[in-house]
Amino acid sequence: MGLLTGKTALIFGVANEHSIAWGIAQAFAREGATVGFSYAIDKLERRVRPLAESLGSTFVERCDLSKDDEILATLEKAKNHYGGIDILVHSVAFANREDLSGPYYNVSREGFRLAMDISVYSFTALARAALPIMRPNGSMLTMSYIGSVRAINHYNVMGVAKAALEASVRYLAADMGVDEKRIRVNSISAGPIRTLAVAGIAGSRMLISDFAKVSMLHRNISIDEVGNSAAYLCSDLASGVTGEIHYVDTGFSVAGFPSTEETAG
Ligand code: NAD
Repeated sequence: MGLLTGKTALIFGVANEHSIAWGIAQAFAREGATVGFSYAIDKLERRVRPLAESLGSTFVERCDLSKDDEILATLEKAKNHYGGIDILVHSVAFANREDLSGPYYNVSREGFRLAMDISVYSFTALARAALPIMRPNGSMLTMSYIGSVRAINHYNVMGVAKAALEASVRYLAADMGVDEKRIRVNSISAGPIRTLAVAGIAGSRMLISDFAKVSMLHRNISIDEVGNSAAYLCSDLASGVTGEIHYVDTGFSVAGFPSTEETAG
């Protein structure tokens, strides 16, 4: 019996086998969940479908989260396919590459709007559309980063977006908590991992290698570790946890001073 046996999860944000959402999907499947997938654009299908099928998934649908009609259509298909879902995972973000280098203040109005639309509003839109097909005591999860609360070089508008996303988690958790279904809403704030999304941030290689030097455990995290924490947060073990920003970052966020091998010894 797995942590998620009997539960059905819908996961948005797998682009390839490096995606955090793929780490989450694998952990969910290992823990007994039935997992459905959605990908952003047609050209991703040839990557996502084989991954989904390797976990025995029978639901793989395209959904551009910037489009309300696609969100509604995807949730309708999920309802017809599964009857209802217990878990919704949003592991999606986007900003223009030029807005992820240089000074933050250069961000254009359109670049700001785009980052907020795809990286923040899409979770709210998805949560609203999913609520009618969520089963009672279900759970929603999104992905954040410490750039929401600290200024991280080049993270820029995405840090502003993550701050808004984390605020959304709290408001959604409050809304869903008074709804009779008592859905929980949480976020994982992950340490940096080499994925497609991170490749767009200037200096990301350095960001990842420096992180390993100063985090408390002196290493980077993996998508499997995010997946394991997601499995807990979306399982009944976390039935008392909602509105939470849960750090999976080998202790980076709570280190008072960078803990290097020299200072630790
Ligand atoms: P990724 O590139 O594998 O995933 C990002 C996903 O967003 C992709 O699947 C992409 O197709 C999807 N996406 C973009 N625009 C979309 C749209 N309009 N509609 C639907 N989907 C869309 O990279 P990742 O690192 O796995 O990112 C997943 C989440 O984790 C993001 O929210 C990211 O900010 C967050 N995160 C990543 C890191 C990291 O270091 N990799 C750390 C903390 C948080």
